[in-house]
Amino acid sequence: LFQAVELAPRDPILGLNEQFNADPRSTKVNLGVGVYYDDNGKIPLLAAVHQAEVARVQLAAARGYLPIEGIAGYNKGAQELVLGKNSPLIGAGRVLTMQALGGTGALKIGADFIKQLVPDAKVAISDPSWENHRALFERAGFEVVNYPYYDAVTHGLNFKGMIEGLRSLPQKSVVVLHACCHNPTGVDLTVDQWREVAQVVKASNLIPFLDIAYQGFGDGLEADASAVRLFADLDMTMFISSSFSKSFSLYGERVGALTIVTGSQDESSRVLSQVKRVIRTNYSNPPTHGGTIVSTVLNNPELFALWDKELAGMRDRIRLMRKQLVEKLTQYGVKEDCSYVMKQRGMFSFSGMTAPQVERLRAEHGIYAVSTGRICVAALNSKNIDTVAKAMAEVMKA
Ligand code: PMP
Repeated sequence: LFQAVELAPRDPILGLNEQFNADPRSTKVNLGVGVYYDDNGKIPLLAAVHQAEVARVQLAAARGYLPIEGIAGYNKGAQELVLGKNSPLIGAGRVLTMQALGGTGALKIGADFIKQLVPDAKVAISDPSWENHRALFERAGFEVVNYPYYDAVTHGLNFKGMIEGLRSLPQKSVVVLHACCHNPTGVDLTVDQWREVAQVVKASNLIPFLDIAYQGFGDGLEADASAVRLFADLDMTMFISSSFSKSFSLYGERVGALTIVTGSQDESSRVLSQVKRVIRTNYSNPPTHGGTIVSTVLNNPELFALWDKELAGMRDRIRLMRKQLVEKLTQYGVKEDCSYVMKQRGMFSFSGMTAPQVERLRAEHGIYAVSTGRICVAALNSKNIDTVAKAMAEVMKA
């Protein structure tokens, strides 16, 4: 049975982690991961999460099956987070949310459902994009194409190319958009640019799939949802995948949600019945623990405020690291203006390093980054930033 099975290539990012773990150098630094670390280099356990978890354990509640679509309070909290508490679409019964196994699970349920509706649709992702977008939609049976996004010359957005790319897509193509904190580049659209993109998506009759995996890491929970809200204002039907992995620092609990905006309340009930079949035949129903914690925090005003404050702390620390990195690169002799690193948002930065420079950084300094030059700014801290900046400057100057 397995004789002809070929060895699959290593996942580029998880493969990097394996290589990092095997590196004996005590000065090594891993900037390849997509995880937020605190200033001590640890994944934080947020106080809001901890309090909700303690309360849950004290309840000693039984662990029965959840409904196929998950915890009702979780779903309500998740949809209000992206669309706003006063969303008229929610009021009109046009919004459905299903608890999902992380943002990845939300994307996959959405992809499987879209495959049922428009089997021949093309799926367009940004160039570049989170590396799993292409693989996930291809595995769901779609042809995946790129629309222009990053401009390597300006280290910014190729907005004109993006608009032209979207305009050239056939009707009913799915457009995957990073709603904030673009992974891997850190380059985001302005609100005006988002407005234009939303208008083009609507006029071209495309299907928006907004992926929001870093809400709260850009400018704040509300500001980071502005792209989603602009699409909602244009009254479009759409898919939204949310991930709480980073914002709650609950990576291993697989907390995410799929939200679908339909055309009417009647459509909502039919769509929900179909999406439930997709979930049922994949994993039946979601797990209880992480979902209960997130739901508790989202629905308790005190815990919510605490969480919001902790998120702001993570966001501010990343900003500080961006600022210090730019200052230190200049201090260590990089002539090029690196201030683009400060304009980028979220956990990642397209640092401008080339693949050979990234390789030198690893071989000579034990500092690991993705070969595209992506670094995780959230893995920098007050203890390693000097070493990292010095090493980066050395490989970038040569
Ligand atoms: N979308 C994007 C853009 C991401 O960066 C990630 C996580 N790296 C995900 C989705 C998936 O999130 P999760 O880990 O919650 O599955």
